[in-house]
Amino acid sequence: MSEKTKLHAVLECKCPRCRQGNLFEKGKIFPKPLSHCPVCGVRYEKEPDFFQGAMYVSYAISVAIFVVFGFGAYFLFNDPPTYVYWLTIITATIVLAPLNWRLSKSLFIHVFGGFKYEPNIVQEKR
Ligand SMILES: [Zn+2]
Repeated sequence: MSEKTKLHAVLECKCPRCRQGNLFEKGKIFPKPLSHCPVCGVRYEKEPDFFQGAMYVSYAISVAIFVVFGFGAYFLFNDPPTYVYWLTIITATIVLAPLNWRLSKSLFIHVFGGFKYEPNIVQEKR
C-alpha cells in the first residue's frame, strides 16, 4: 500500500500519526471526533476541549467560502443585485458546513496537534 501524503490525510480526515485510522465517527452529518485512533490507538484530544481551536480554522475556511462564492457570483451573474450575493454566499456556507466541520478539525489536528507521522507504527504493533 502506498503511503498517504499529509494533504491526503487531512482531506480524508485520517489520523495524523498513522494516516489510516478515521478521525470521526461514521454516519453523521456533524460527527464528533473519536477519542482515540482505531488503528494505532493514539489519543486525539491532547487536552480538554482541544478541538475548540478548530473554530479559528473553520472561520478561515468560511471567509474563503465567502470570497470564492462572492467573486463567483460576480462573474457568473455579471455583477448582480446585492441580494444575489447574499443568497449565493449564505447557501454555499450552509451547504458546505458539514465539509467545513470536518476539514477544520482535520486541518487543526494535523497542523497544531503536534503529532509526528509514523508510517510503521501499525506494523510495529502487530
Ligand atoms: Zn492512528
